[in-house]
This record gives sequence, C-alpha cells and structure tokens, in this order.
Amino acid sequence: MTVEFISVGTEILLGNIVNTNAAYLSERCAALGLSCYHQSVVGDNEERLMETVRLGLSRSDILILSGGLGPTKDDLTKEVTAKVFGRELYEDEHTKERIKEYFRRVRSGQVTPNNWKQAMVPEGAKVIDNHNGTAPGLIIEADGKTAILLPGPPNELMPMFERDIAPYLNQLEPEGIYSKMVKICGIGESKAETMIADLMDAQTNPTIAPYAKTGEVHLRVTAKAADEEKAKELLSPVVDELYQRFGDKIYTTEEDVTLEASIVELLDGQGMTVTTAESCTGGLLAGRIMNVPGASGVYREGYITYANDAKERLLGVKRETLMEHGAVSCQTACEMARGAAKAAGADAAVSVTGIAGPGGGTEEKPVGLVYVGCNVKGHVRVEEFHFTGNRDKNREYTVARALTLLREELLKNCKDLQNGDQP
Ligand code: ATP
Repeated sequence: MTVEFISVGTEILLGNIVNTNAAYLSERCAALGLSCYHQSVVGDNEERLMETVRLGLSRSDILILSGGLGPTKDDLTKEVTAKVFGRELYEDEHTKERIKEYFRRVRSGQVTPNNWKQAMVPEGAKVIDNHNGTAPGLIIEADGKTAILLPGPPNELMPMFERDIAPYLNQLEPEGIYSKMVKICGIGESKAETMIADLMDAQTNPTIAPYAKTGEVHLRVTAKAADEEKAKELLSPVVDELYQRFGDKIYTTEEDVTLEASIVELLDGQGMTVTTAESCTGGLLAGRIMNVPGASGVYREGYITYANDAKERLLGVKRETLMEHGAVSCQTACEMARGAAKAAGADAAVSVTGIAGPGGGTEEKPVGLVYVGCNVKGHVRVEEFHFTGNRDKNREYTVARALTLLREELLKNCKDLQNGDQP
C-alpha cells in the first residue's frame, strides 16, 4: 500500500520550523511496510491545500496530514479534507468533554471559545483521542482511500501515532518490514559493493542497501514479511551469504553495536586490557573506546603525546628514532605502541602518529600520512595510511583504522590461542 504525507503550515514553508514530523512519519511508515513515493509541504491556504489533498488522494492509498488542526481561523486541514470527501462537520460530544476536561486539568479551566472548533469533526470519521493536547486525530475513509489527520506538535503527533495510528495501519497492511544491519570494517565501500554486486542485482525480498560510514560499510538487509518468524526465514540465508563473503570483517549484525563496543567485548572475552598512545588524534581514539559502557574493565590509562619530548618521557620512544626517522614514522609508531603497553601495564596498545593537516606536510611526508601501531602481547604491527580529507576527516579516519587494526590483531591473537600457538 502507498502512503503520502502532507505537512501543513506556512511556518514550515518559510523555514521557521524544521519538518521533523515528515522524517518521523517516513521512518515509521517504512517500518510498517508502507511505500511512500510523495511528500509535500503546503501553507495555510485553502485553495492550495485542497489541490494538494486531491492530488494526494489521486495517487496514494493513504494520506497522512499533519498540522493545521488548531483552534484558529488559519487552521484549515480538517475543513478542507472534509470538503474533498464531501462530509459535513458536526460537534462531537465526546471530544467536547475531553477538551473541557483538558482545560480543567492543564489550564485554569477557562476554555477559550475558539477551542470548540476542535470539537467539530467530519461525519463518519473515526475520532482519535489526543492525550497530550486538544485537537483530536481523525481518520476519514471512502472508496478505498484513507486520510489520517494528525496534530502538528510532535509531542502530540508521535504518541498518537504510536498508540492508535500504527495499529490501524498495521491492520490495513499486515506485512511489516524487518531488517538486520551487517556492519563491516576493514573493507572500502566500493570493494564491498563489488563483492555483493550479484546479490544486489538479484535482490527483491530481502533487499540489501549499503551505507558508507567513516572507515566502515554497513549493509542493511531488509525483508517484507507477515511476522518476525517469516522475516527471519528470509533474512537468515542472505546474512549467512554475507558472512561467507566477508568473513570476520563483519563485526556485528546488531543495530546498536558499534565497532568499539565489539572490541571491548573481544578484550573482555580474552581477559585483556588495552591502552592508547595518540599524537594527531589527541584522545579521539581513547574517547571512542570510553564511549562504551563497561570500558573501564579493559582500559585503565592512556597517553596523548603530541610533542616529541612527551613521546620520549611518557612512552620511552628513543631520541635517535625521532631524530633519524621523525615523529611521523613507522619506527616511532612501533616504539609508541611498545612503550605505552609497558607504561600502562596493558596487554595491548594502539599508537597513532600522523599529519592531520592543514599545515605540517612536506613532499616526503604529506598531510594525511598516518602510522598506526598495534601491540598485542608484544607482537607489534604498524600500518601506513594516506588520507585525503581535511583535518577532522583525517583524524576520524585514523581512529576508525586504528580500531579496525586493533580488532584484527585481537582476532589473530584469539585464533593463535585456539591453535595453541604462542602469539
Ligand atoms: P495546535 O492544535 O497546537 O494548534 P496544529 O495541529 O494546528 O496544532 P500547527 O498549528 O500546524 O498544528 O503547528 C503547531 C506547532 O507544531 C508548530 O508551531 C510547530 O512547533 C509544530 N509543528 C507543526 N508541524 C510540524 C512539523 N511538520 N514538524 C515539526 N513540528 C511541527
């Protein structure tokens, strides 16, 4: 079934308020399995609103209008929609009582006369109680078409939608949308898309939609199904196939698990602690790890060593290394990772040294050159990266790569332990 949204209000057209209702309704209706092909915003003008409602009804099964149900003269949504459906308005006793009750409870008890306008409802409409305001929601049905009228304020619209409208829509369209988010790190977006091009070409139900995140690729696998059990039957083979192709580059299929959370879980599972030694990322890497609730179990202390003497003093990086190879070098990243693990008494350490820009680059060492070192139980791996963004982006990408490198080394350590090898 198709759904279309009409947001009513001149203040939305003028940019005085952001149309958050449209974003909310789009997301919720998509999750309910409805297809949305059109949305519009129209001001408080009778003629243009009527034209928009007529157009919407001509091309969509369900129209959801938000706003313009207030008590003032320029609130026209109900009057115009009723006219399009050829319905008269009558005073609804039940709504009148609720308005009286609302004013008794929330205000001084004085109902302003224009509020009674909100008790007028179209003949034959379903009246939806507003538990957070005075304008009721309305559902008008005729000839296989439905118009749903909702109050504009989000604190009224959203609870009404969740409580009454979503169940109503569910019964019109019993199939729902279910999805799994397959989150991948350590592979670029274009490579990931190439690896699943055949699956994407063949997709109908489920579908696969890629989203690029900084340093990660997320694939949303979405199925349309009557219930969760059926959705699982559709989703599972596709998720299994993605595991076949991406292997342990997939760090989760859970919507709310982040890369850093998956790393904290890995460390926790192996009974290991980690530390960080950061130069150009200045604590961003540590911050990402500390975003995870429970990170204190695996992270005790870390280092921001921007200046050379801090790298020497806190991490024991050798002066000769700094003189000979420079602060931004594979050798320095390696010594930082070794020194940090030793200083913190941690099982693992990640080091970062690079040139985030915009200044500081040379021909030999341009802006965007970053070395990330990872030390897991004394085994150090250093990777060289060349980022091409601005200062912020370079730092964000560095953190994503550093987390990915740490995850890879932790998985390796885990496999070595399972094989009985000494890492
Ligand atoms: P009321 O009964 O309070 O008069 P209404 O149904 O007439 O509500 P409007 O007068 O159109 O709604 O809007 C009231 C307020 O609701 C706006 O000032 C704005 O704060 C919010 N609002 C309206 N439409 C939207 C929208 N599309 N997105 C976000 N907020 C909105």
